[in-house]
Amino acid sequence: MTWADVFVEIFLWFRLGASGKAYIRDHCVYCKYHQTCSDINQQAEVIRRDRLPPKDQSQGAETLRLIFTSDTHERHEALGTLPKGDIFFHAGDILMSSRFQSDALLLRKIQAFNDWLGTVPCDVRVCIGGNHDRILEDENLAKRIFTNATFLHNKSIMTHGLKIFGTSYSRGKSGNRAFQSLDTIREAQVAVPEDPIDILVSHGPRSDLPKTVFNPRLLHFFGHIHGMRGIRAVKMEDMTHNEPQRGLGENRNAVQYLSVNASLMEQNYNPTGLPIVIDVAL
Ligand SMILES: [Zn+2]
Ligand SMILES: [Zn+2]
Repeated sequence: MTWADVFVEIFLWFRLGASGKAYIRDHCVYCKYHQTCSDINQQAEVIRRDRLPPKDQSQGAETLRLIFTSDTHERHEALGTLPKGDIFFHAGDILMSSRFQSDALLLRKIQAFNDWLGTVPCDVRVCIGGNHDRILEDENLAKRIFTNATFLHNKSIMTHGLKIFGTSYSRGKSGNRAFQSLDTIREAQVAVPEDPIDILVSHGPRSDLPKTVFNPRLLHFFGHIHGMRGIRAVKMEDMTHNEPQRGLGENRNAVQYLSVNASLMEQNYNPTGLPIVIDVAL
């Protein structure tokens, strides 16, 4: 550890909040989603993780249980034991202050995060970077470190019949500027698939992304905006004319896709956000 590492570690010890006893580590936010949903907000509920219902198979041939979190900022263990699911997503900001710390220390922190990912009880785990994750801009290094997850920066994968596209891009005024360059967004524009995406994972919200990244068919999952977590059902009538709509339905009242912010952190970096669990009928 360098002297700068020690200094920043002490700073982080004061800066990062502790969730304390009030945090309900054995709960999650849960909802069911299918394409004919007219509203989602009434269905989302805070529920004990050990009382999650079995996956509802009545609305489609197959239902997948998706688990979401983001912006854990070195406090991922505050999440407690996550429920079992099919696909786990982390939308970036794994680290806290990667600007001032040595690569050796950041590497150890990401390796510890990868070890934790190995304990998440999901068949597939997907993660992207955030503006605090400087060391992950080295794609080859990121691929080597993540042995327990697929690192999906400006790439897509097919899994469980779903096309998932991930980009670590975001915008903002923070001094932590990883994955915020013009090159990053140009690369995302080139890499985004021509055909519809089922799930879009990005570090920043929809407004950070260019028009050429089309809206997903099912779900947009992001973080970056602390203290604004939640699930929003986006209908065609809610979309601005800037939002591209390839592959979406024509019914203006039907939900077009879900917008999910699963940041763990409050604005003051207190880790109190619950993981989000969504059963999606395909
Ligand atoms: Zn963050
Ligand atoms: Zn961020």
